[in-house]
Order: sequence, then C-alpha cells, then structure tokens
Amino acid sequence: MSKINVTPFFKFRQVKIVEQKVSDDLSMVLIKTVPDERYIPVCSECGTKTRSIHSYETRIVRDMNMFRTKVFIEYTYRKIRCHTCSGIKVEKLGFIDLYMRITRRFAQYIVDLCKYMTVADVAYLLEVDRKLVKRLHKEYLQSAFGKEVCSGLRVLAVDEISLKKGHNYLTIVADYETGRIVHVGRERKYKTLKGFFKKIPKRERRRIEAVCMDMWDPYIKAVTIWCPDASIVFDLFHVVQAFGKVINKVRNREYKKAFGENKDVIKGTKYILLKNRKNLKRKESRRLKELLEINKNLSTVYILKDQLKRLWKYRYKGWVIKEDLRGL
Ligand SMILES: [Zn+2]
Repeated sequence: MSKINVTPFFKFRQVKIVEQKVSDDLSMVLIKTVPDERYIPVCSECGTKTRSIHSYETRIVRDMNMFRTKVFIEYTYRKIRCHTCSGIKVEKLGFIDLYMRITRRFAQYIVDLCKYMTVADVAYLLEVDRKLVKRLHKEYLQSAFGKEVCSGLRVLAVDEISLKKGHNYLTIVADYETGRIVHVGRERKYKTLKGFFKKIPKRERRRIEAVCMDMWDPYIKAVTIWCPDASIVFDLFHVVQAFGKVINKVRNREYKKAFGENKDVIKGTKYILLKNRKNLKRKESRRLKELLEINKNLSTVYILKDQLKRLWKYRYKGWVIKEDLRGL
C-alpha cells in the first residue's frame, strides 16, 4: 500500500479527514471529512458555543487544485440549537464561509490571481464560474478600498491620467501618507472630485488638512467647497512649469524692446532660461550670465524662479517669511 498521504494539505481545525478518493483519470480528488467531536460546535451567526446538536448534514465544496487536479471536500457538519439566536443554525467552520461553494483559501487564491489577471482569465484557468470570480474580486475591492476610504485621511494627493493622449481623463485620489489609492473617478471635472468628497462624512472631511494637486480650477473649486479647512498645495513641478510661461512672456517682450547687440544676446535663450541651472553646459551658463547682466527685468524673473523653487524646501512657514522674502 502506498505511504503517500495528502492529509497534511487539509489541516482544517474542527474536522477529521476520513477518506480520500482519486478519480481514475486523476482529474478529481474527493476528500471526506466529519466533525471532530472534541470541538464543541459554535454558532456561525452569533458565536455561541453549544452542545445541543440538532442534526448532521453533508455538502460538497471546491478547494484549491492539487497540480491540475480539481479538489472537492465533502464535509459533514453539525446543525445546532442556538439559544442566543433561538433557532437552528449551522456550526461555524474555519475553512468555509457560510453559503459559499468554495473553501476560504480557494477564494483567497482567486482574489490574489485577480490582481494579475482578468476575471475571465482566472475563471478559465481554474474552471470556475466567471460570476463567482467577479463577485469575489468585487468584494475584495470593496473591503480593501471601499470602507476605509472615509476614515483617517489627513493629506490627499489628486492627480489625473489620460487614457488616450489628451482625451478620456481619470482622476486619481491617493492617501498621501500611505500611497494608497482611495478613489478613481472619470474625467477631471468639478463633479469628479465632488463625487469623492460626498462619500466622506462631514466630520471626516474636516480632518483633511491638505490636498496636493495640479493648478486645475475644477479641482480647486471642489476642495474649496467640500473641504474648506484644507490647504491646497500645488505640486512644485506644475508651479515651476507655469512660471516658465511668465519667464517666456517677459523674454519675448524684452526681445522686442532690445536693439543691436542686446537683441543678439536675448535671441535663442528660451531654453537656457527654463532649464535647471545645474543642467546648463558651460557655454549656456556663460550666455545666461551675460543675459542677466544686460537685462534687469529678465534678471528679476530669473531670481524669482529660484526663490519659488526654494519655497518647497522649507518645513516651517516662519522660516520662509524670515529668510526667503528678505532675499527678494
Ligand atoms: Zn447563534
């Protein structure tokens, strides 16, 4: 007789394995279990322990595959007379949730696969009902991203992504402190963010201290209306990008005003002015120096750009007022 035994793979508490059957073509394994009578049954609805057994019933549920072989568990469970619920209830078992046709660990496996594959792929691979996979995945998403969304948020980051270039935007809201995505909404409109804020109770919304975002009016409007206590923080990249437009405007104006040699110095300096000073080549640095020396207005906006970048490095408001503005 073979010494191979699969019992260690089915170490479920409260039950004992009594039989294992393998179909001739190896496509199916059936594991039979009965209640381990050393355990007093517990009501699956209220958790009360009772020795008052009403009857025994049997059902078959699907478990995780062993290699390519499908595994089924035929388990006998106890129905109990629960005094707390005042009725006949099913005993609670660790490996299966009430009314489920698959074991807990198989459900977890399906949910894990859904993180990497489509619902249809998972259903096909494991030969399970697509509706079941969809339901489990949805339940997982709701428990992971649904309920907790509303509580404990202090700093939010709002960003947009475009699905097609320049079209079909999605708005992503993340908890800045944990990096967890808490909301994904269609478009990048006022109502997109409004939809998110409406889900959060007013008490929780008040606790939001800051929202980091692009300089985008619909977002600003939504935060101002729905989270009036929160500070709006613009991303440094976007602010500097917007300031780049200012620099360019000043440069164009100065170019038009300039004569002769000075006009030549300003000509073709657009990117030198916008580039990070550290990234300039030696020749470009020389041109920048020359340009800032001959033109006071350009020199002023250039200093402002540097000041603007430095603002993001401060941790305390007081220091900004004391040190940075003194330099202006
Ligand atoms: Zn009960």
